[in-house]
Amino acid sequence: MSISLLYHAFGIRGYQYVRTNYTEGQVVFTICQEPQTCRCSACGSGDVLSRGHVERRFRSLPIGGRTTSLVLPIPRVECRACGLVRQVDVAFADPRRSFTKPFERYVLELSRRMTIRDVAAHLNVGWDLVKEIQKRDLSRRYAKPKLKHLRHLAIDEIAVAKGHRYLTLVLDLDSGAVVFVGDGRGADALKPFWKRLRPSGAKIKAVAMDMSAAYRQAVSTHLEKATIVFDHFHVIKLFNDKLSELRRAVYREATDVMHKQVLKGTRWLLLKKPEDLDAEKDEKRRLEEALTLNKPLATAYYLKEDLRRFWEQPGKRFATAFLNDWLRRAEASGIKTLQQMAKTLAAHRTGLLAYYDVMITSGPMEGTNNKIKTMKRMAYGFRDHEFFKLKILAIHETRYALVG
Ligand SMILES: [Zn+2]
Repeated sequence: MSISLLYHAFGIRGYQYVRTNYTEGQVVFTICQEPQTCRCSACGSGDVLSRGHVERRFRSLPIGGRTTSLVLPIPRVECRACGLVRQVDVAFADPRRSFTKPFERYVLELSRRMTIRDVAAHLNVGWDLVKEIQKRDLSRRYAKPKLKHLRHLAIDEIAVAKGHRYLTLVLDLDSGAVVFVGDGRGADALKPFWKRLRPSGAKIKAVAMDMSAAYRQAVSTHLEKATIVFDHFHVIKLFNDKLSELRRAVYREATDVMHKQVLKGTRWLLLKKPEDLDAEKDEKRRLEEALTLNKPLATAYYLKEDLRRFWEQPGKRFATAFLNDWLRRAEASGIKTLQQMAKTLAAHRTGLLAYYDVMITSGPMEGTNNKIKTMKRMAYGFRDHEFFKLKILAIHETRYALVG
């Protein structure tokens, strides 16, 4: 082993090679630092006296699949300027890290295509070490995203851990990036976001969200000038929930066995867009059969499908007329679920029609949610809450394998 190989193969410069040991299938290089190159790690002075050393071991890049470590007796020096004894800095590793910088870069490179468990197995290290390396890198890059350029946002909550714990996400609708992940849901979860947004000087034009009061209140307080848009995605989602409730009620009340049989398994059919119904599975016929037998269900279903057209109007004037007409029909249906829905929509009229001023929807949020779900199912690092949040902030990038 030469000094030049130490540099070119391992990225280590400024140290002397001492010896190589082969123990238990591992390669261990011992290196040392010349006393005359030692400097005070606090003030940088070279006017120091040798005061022994502390031996430390660092994981390094593997050689031909062999685990490789560097052993370095780190000199301790007494600085005449500071009057204190300290260890000198290690040039090839960050403070308190047990691996070299090239090893860290290699882990990150592998992490782009491999899961944490695969990287750990390949390098013969614990997966928590790989996770810590990823976490530090994610933290450096994503913990504090720039906010100044933000114009259009979507705010939404996601359930983690079987619906008992929530996170609140803020999405930049122009770039698709998650710019904030808050703990919990509702106005409180957004507090740290406002704290960072204010000094950024961002001019937020519009925010897409669901019709619940929590975020609306917070946004109108903190972003007085922003237009609030109750978006398509959330309105239809709410409607679908109501439709499922109605179907359950109809099913409970049905006394006829055959009638019950027809209703059974129609839940997903009711929620699907008509154009997505699977012809091979005979879904269209099954849905029609169920609707023919249940007039209230049919009315609710067709009114829901009709409501989609609200977002396809040529302009705000047409949309207003459409909404008024739709609300009248829902009211006149005599079906309680629909009347409730009409009431909710009427109360949020301004925010619904705002779509025709700023055409934004939380659509991209749905894509992000799906990615998070995949991550939740497969990520080993998920138990580390901070790591999980950092992964969400980086989710629009392909820097790491999603499932890590
Ligand atoms: Zn000093």
